[in-house]
Amino acid sequence: MGQEIFEELLGRLEGIGREVPDGRRWGYDQKYEIKDALKSAFGVFFFQHPSMLQFQRAMQEKRKRNNVTTILKVAEIPSDTQIKTLIDNIEPAGFDTVFSGNLGIADKHGIIDKYRVLDDGVLIALDGVWYHSSENIHCKHCLHKEIDGKVMYYHSIVAGTIVKPGDGAVLPVMPEMITNEDGSEKQDCEINATKRWLKKHGKEYKWLKATLLGDDLFSNYPMCMAVLEQGMSFIFTCKPKSHPWLTETITNSYLDELSVKNWKGKNHHVGTYKWLNGVEIRDDKKTLLVNYLYLEIKNKETGKVGYKNGWVTNKTITKENCVSLAAFGRARWKIENEHNNVLKNHGYNLEHNFGHGKNHASEIFCLLNLLSFQFHTILGLVDEGYQSARASISRRDEFFNHLRAALRYGLHDNWQQFIIFVRHGPPDG
Ligand SMILES: [Zn+2]
Repeated sequence: MGQEIFEELLGRLEGIGREVPDGRRWGYDQKYEIKDALKSAFGVFFFQHPSMLQFQRAMQEKRKRNNVTTILKVAEIPSDTQIKTLIDNIEPAGFDTVFSGNLGIADKHGIIDKYRVLDDGVLIALDGVWYHSSENIHCKHCLHKEIDGKVMYYHSIVAGTIVKPGDGAVLPVMPEMITNEDGSEKQDCEINATKRWLKKHGKEYKWLKATLLGDDLFSNYPMCMAVLEQGMSFIFTCKPKSHPWLTETITNSYLDELSVKNWKGKNHHVGTYKWLNGVEIRDDKKTLLVNYLYLEIKNKETGKVGYKNGWVTNKTITKENCVSLAAFGRARWKIENEHNNVLKNHGYNLEHNFGHGKNHASEIFCLLNLLSFQFHTILGLVDEGYQSARASISRRDEFFNHLRAALRYGLHDNWQQFIIFVRHGPPDG
């Protein structure tokens, strides 16, 4: 089954290559297909292996076959420069159907249902994340700002990922590029990009019945309204300083309260949940009634507050659901910890393989990186061969060491054989 799923996921990525108009300028590029450039670059991210293509080209020379061809079905590996040139004119929006189609594949295998934790819907954490900055390297879609008299060019996105409290496997959805439009002098921003994300994906993701998780930047009237207009729900962090009106209302109101005792190792903690339904958030003359939830966790022995946070949500808060709602609100950190870190720690370095590009290449590398992340999560949940290989190696970085070694020292007929090799080593070993 693993081979079938892997090919199904890969097939969607190939689809992008088919839809791109042929804007290639140089004769030698005609030798290579855009889909081969996409899949070659994807392999570098998927295996987190910056020198993968170099090794596989050498393998081709020596053994007349290579793993990029057998596993990723690439007819011929283009050079790094050709890869950049070939994918520079791909529109990022082309990845939309790939991300959502892959979620459909995940659903077919029962994965999405495991993430339905609130009113039969999933939690999608959204967060702005930067993935490139340079004083020298830039393209026409870079954002820029002046720092100490110097211009800094950078790229960022509003990333989204399906999360579940207590589960490390996060499932990325299509992000929205924070990007300057052609000829526009106005800098794009996280809020505008999030509103575009909502308009683009509201209908498409209706079947997920999503509740969005976001930071304090999102807990305002226009953003909450934009979410509700798309039929989605929200749990957004709400800090007292940035919401004086709401904070005053809360300070002067009687809040419902629930205390929950908990043992964490030898420490005795008490979580105090306080809530108030029907609080106004305002935008000039317009108001929206939201519900406010606050959690404070104290060490019972020392009296020290270990955690405190507040959220606004459109979900009605009750004694029965306040603990879960707070846990869902807290799951927002997963996008920072388990998603953005991967993007930052691997994506930024890997871009230097291919270069930045003039048009969309930098954005496409970012999308390929996120897509490889989505592949790993889906395979980890449905491919028994992958699960067995992953379970045999406790650390994630060690697992990737094994993937890279298997690519370098073995020649494999397909994905399934490759992952069996990762698990068990060479047949005679
Ligand atoms: Zn750029």
